[in-house]
Amino acid sequence: MKRLFHSLILVSFAAPAAEKVTLCRGHWHSEADAVKQLARMAATYSNLGEWKARASSVRQQILTGSKLSPLTKRTPLNPIIKNKRTYKGYTVEAAVFEARPGYFVYGNLYRPLGFKGKRPGILCPHGHARKNEAHGGGRLRPDQQNRCATLARMGAVVFSYDMIGYGDSEHLGWRHNHPQALTLQTWSSVRAVDFLETLPEVDKKRIGVTGCSGGGTQTFLLTAIDDRVAVSVPVVMVSAHFFGGCHCESGMPIHKTSKLETNNAEIAALAAPRPMKLISVGGDWTKNNPKVEYPYAQGIYKYFGALDKVANTHFPKEKHGYEFIKRQAMYPFMVKHLGLDPKGVLDKKTGVYDETGNTIETSEQQRTFKTLAEMPKHALKPGSAVSFK
Ligand SMILES: [Zn+2]
Repeated sequence: MKRLFHSLILVSFAAPAAEKVTLCRGHWHSEADAVKQLARMAATYSNLGEWKARASSVRQQILTGSKLSPLTKRTPLNPIIKNKRTYKGYTVEAAVFEARPGYFVYGNLYRPLGFKGKRPGILCPHGHARKNEAHGGGRLRPDQQNRCATLARMGAVVFSYDMIGYGDSEHLGWRHNHPQALTLQTWSSVRAVDFLETLPEVDKKRIGVTGCSGGGTQTFLLTAIDDRVAVSVPVVMVSAHFFGGCHCESGMPIHKTSKLETNNAEIAALAAPRPMKLISVGGDWTKNNPKVEYPYAQGIYKYFGALDKVANTHFPKEKHGYEFIKRQAMYPFMVKHLGLDPKGVLDKKTGVYDETGNTIETSEQQRTFKTLAEMPKHALKPGSAVSFK
């Protein structure tokens, strides 16, 4: 009896202490502290091999922190694609797939007309902006529709998809405050690449992703954990001192554990050596990109001899958002690195990518599913917990 008691004590002492959870939310530290943190992080590697080892640890922490480790099984996507609308140079359809059994991701598929051969595929996640006068939020916004339509008119197959609790997802009753939002959205992005790969016209070697704000977070998280992403353009989001203000960005311990500290500047740099462009502005937390986050990324791209693959366009007088002027900075990067054809869109004299040929749909046209009865019978009830077992 005495011996048993002794061994139990030994067991309890040998058990690992529970990980102290640290959430780095919003403006978790100051701009000055962010610079110091980058210096601490940069001191942990001094060559390509050491960087690759660190990158692997950061990647693992994202997966563990977002409850995606071990990576769950890929289940059948059971896509639904319907309601084709034909416009000048492209089509738009409702497109839905099943990221986990019963959990659906809703969106619009923009496909180019008049192109031959395999086409690049581009994912367009969206940010938290809700409504303007005439349109609903998220992917229903004219800014997002213009981005998708213009890329499609240049030959890309584009998938624009809802955050949980936006667009069709909101219409059906899901809310953005769902406790699994970070897990669900990150996994949905991985499955969105799978979905693009199921389309026979998509070239699996030319997958790009671009989004702004919360869609920028989805852009760099996906690029960090999924090497199928070939080109990444996170817009007005990559910051060393701001970690994202929503629980879908910083509500799980992906940034700091007792073993490793990181921030979104380093997570974005996990794109290296794949082409990445940071688009930043003076009017939000990306204001220091030209002198802080961009040089940090360049330091990593240098190890790969790929300094020409990383870029930054900074608009010191602009504010948060993915308006026309920021899209104009993204298009040429996608054209160059994904092999899009800007003929008929790019005005060579002015250098402007003309969006006037796009058709902006109403929210009613963009949204397709209004009740659960329109979905397969096994669709989860809005608000349900989603199993990742
Ligand atoms: Zn969110």
